[in-house]
Amino acid sequence: MTRTREAIVVGAGLGGIGIAIQLKRLGIEDFEILERNDDLGGTWHVNHYPGLAVDIPSVTYSFSFEPNPHWSRWYAPGAELKKYCEHVAEKYDVRRHMRFDTGVESARWDDDSGEWHVQLADGSTERSTYLIVATGFLSQPKVPDIEGIETFTGKVIHSTEWDHDYDFTGKRAGLIGTGATGVQLIPEVAERAAELTVYQRTAIWVTPKLDFAMPGLARRAFGAVPLTQRAARLWNSTVLEALLAGVVNFRRLRPAVKAAERIGRRHLARSISDPELRRRLTPDYDFGCKRPTFSNSYYPTFNKPHVHLETGGIARVDGDSIITEDGTRTEIDVLVLATGFSLWQTNFPAFEVIGRDGVNLGKHWRNTRFASYQGITVAKFPNYLHLAAPYSYAGLSFFTTIEAQMKHVDRLFGELRRRQATRFEVTESAADAFTDRMQRRIDDSVWTLGDCATSRSYYFNEQGEATLARPTTTWQNHREQETFPLDDYDYA
Ligand code: NAP
Repeated sequence: MTRTREAIVVGAGLGGIGIAIQLKRLGIEDFEILERNDDLGGTWHVNHYPGLAVDIPSVTYSFSFEPNPHWSRWYAPGAELKKYCEHVAEKYDVRRHMRFDTGVESARWDDDSGEWHVQLADGSTERSTYLIVATGFLSQPKVPDIEGIETFTGKVIHSTEWDHDYDFTGKRAGLIGTGATGVQLIPEVAERAAELTVYQRTAIWVTPKLDFAMPGLARRAFGAVPLTQRAARLWNSTVLEALLAGVVNFRRLRPAVKAAERIGRRHLARSISDPELRRRLTPDYDFGCKRPTFSNSYYPTFNKPHVHLETGGIARVDGDSIITEDGTRTEIDVLVLATGFSLWQTNFPAFEVIGRDGVNLGKHWRNTRFASYQGITVAKFPNYLHLAAPYSYAGLSFFTTIEAQMKHVDRLFGELRRRQATRFEVTESAADAFTDRMQRRIDDSVWTLGDCATSRSYYFNEQGEATLARPTTTWQNHREQETFPLDDYDYA
């Protein structure tokens, strides 16, 4: 066993980087960031498939305290995001705290010593006073449970493990999944492959992407007068906020959601003239039930003669073929899985976490309810922060969530200091009151009042409850994280 560190952070993605910056602002230097991958950046390290780009404008999709005047486009390509992660980690001196190729198997709170014992994949144990889990929502790739898929005789590529050496030229490709990843990948695979069959189970709402190369003048202005970039961020974040407001306040702002649907329908109609194809690409659930996306190239791809849309449902994979439920057999050379991530099955949490009195976090959430306090702490889990907790996902840009959580940590650890305490635990009554309030607010959202039955949205847990997103405005979220009652925690 090694000595007890002040903190261990699990995950070197943007969440882990943000929280590490916050720890350093608080003067905490004795911490380690454990990362199972071989480099930092989380999602922006793992994903490098062709066409990868942010789908939230980059002036908003970045830390507010570290604007980047160098984005090449309004929606930066993924490689620039990876560089941005590296830049932030270097500038804020958090890279040296990172240990790569270090998987965490489990963590257990030891009440006698007041420390977390963190079991690593290599069998060793690390100890820390505070444990911060920053493993994200979208970190456990999902391989679909389709009969025969493991015996497919061709090449299989999951979007999180892109093989840049594989040459699609002349190949017959099959692609499963039409989420945000599929929407970015499909036009790219169509450009390269001889044939492409897209297997869509649930259509996605797609609105136009107002994308453009950043004019040199704008970049120079952003660099020379940071206020200009802050103004662009404010304007863009307000637009995104308005979109979100309709979704979380569906009871009152239903017309906003319907307006977004009309934009999506018009976008589809302008791109696809075949009414039958249009019908199959039209979602049959309300906008906002499921994460929508933005693209100008997705719909037009289906007009190409070598691109086929299959909506009949996959029955099984047999040798080199995919067989749909109506018996259609399509021979393919390569199967691309844009099948997303397993949130509720293998996340929440991503590894075993045992808190006070031997409470197992995953079982506790499933046996009682998915609860948290302010989307970051959990009763019975002392000195524990879980960044991807229930009701933590706020706003459309991930940075809204992480920066709000940084504010929470600032206030909580500030109070710990003031009291000269080393231990915190949210009270059960405060966590219950927060979760009850979030559940009541969910009752006003599209997730309760809208028609979401067919959406198959990861916003809903396995019991069909929308326990992922925080149903408040991002401004309210930030205000609450800065002002929550300090006696919502016990300190020792
Ligand atoms: P996703 O939204 O979960 O989509 C997965 C797709 O795979 C869905 O279309 C799903 O169909 C399909 N699928 C899964 N299992 C299947 C099965 N057994 N048979 C048939 N189809 C199956 O995952 P994602 O596209 O990777 O996106 C995840 C999230 O990542 C997004 O919501 C977004 O937040 C983020 N993202 C962001 C960007 C960006 O530009 N910033 C880009 C990509 C992703 P069903 O819908 O029927 O389940």
